[in-house]
Amino acid sequence: MNEIGRLYICPTPIGNLEDITIRTLNTLKEVDLIIAEDTRHSLKLLNHFGIKKPLSSYHEHNKFSKEGYIIDRLMRGENIALVSDAGMPGISDPGEEIIKTCIENGIEVIGLPGPTASILALVISGLCTKKFVFEGFLPSKKSERIKHLEEIKYEGRTLIFYESPHRLLKTLKDILNTFGDRNISLARELTKKFEEINRGRITEIIEIYSNRDIKGEIVIVIEGSSEKENNEEISVEDELKKLLSEGFSKKDAVKKLSKEKNLPRNEVYKYSVNLE
Ligand code: SAM
Repeated sequence: MNEIGRLYICPTPIGNLEDITIRTLNTLKEVDLIIAEDTRHSLKLLNHFGIKKPLSSYHEHNKFSKEGYIIDRLMRGENIALVSDAGMPGISDPGEEIIKTCIENGIEVIGLPGPTASILALVISGLCTKKFVFEGFLPSKKSERIKHLEEIKYEGRTLIFYESPHRLLKTLKDILNTFGDRNISLARELTKKFEEINRGRITEIIEIYSNRDIKGEIVIVIEGSSEKENNEEISVEDELKKLLSEGFSKKDAVKKLSKEKNLPRNEVYKYSVNLE
């Protein structure tokens, strides 16, 4: 009986074709099948490197229906490589589900290191790289985008976002309005001919990109909040303590604060539970 096959996660260039690794090329040459986000797109890459392999599509719209087929081939002993259109599969690209399913089925998943726009943009941002959060794409609907930004505005770690050129200015303005005028780095067309990095305050970057035709692929890196994380929790708790020390009953303190801060009473009450 054949041994079961392996799934190889193969990162591909995000612009400059020289960024593919020798190991990735060898893996693509050796596997039995390559599953690709867009087979026509990946065929161009394979042709460039003179690699001839069967290709099968694996993308957002068939990722569940295709699982059986992929697992079946792996179980029969075939080795499969997963590629996306650019960069690391599974990072704002298909990959997560099939990787999980392979692990659940005892199939070995081998990850190859390689290009991803997120880490490259972070490293050259000049911002703190010790701790960071990858946020991917923000919601395209304005109300949801603002809600999400509000939820993360006290995040102390450096934040990485992917963004499309046509939404860039709207997103930068929303970030400015929720986060304040922080330092950011905007990386456009990384590793490509027209690579451009702009670093500065959000207002300065908005200025640069206003009244200009914005094209290409973009990563926004934003410095983390300098205010305390969970700032609101701390201030609600501190203010409750203050009111209690002034002689307010717990009930009245909660009532007063929820009114002042426009927060639901049960939410403020949660902060009061452990207070004397
Ligand atoms: N899997 C990819 C990776 O590992 O970076 C990301 C794929 S996601 C669908 C595409 C987004 O990644 C773009 O909209 C852009 O935000 C970012 N991106 C990809 N290539 C880029 C490049 N060369 N320069 C800047 N951003 C890039």
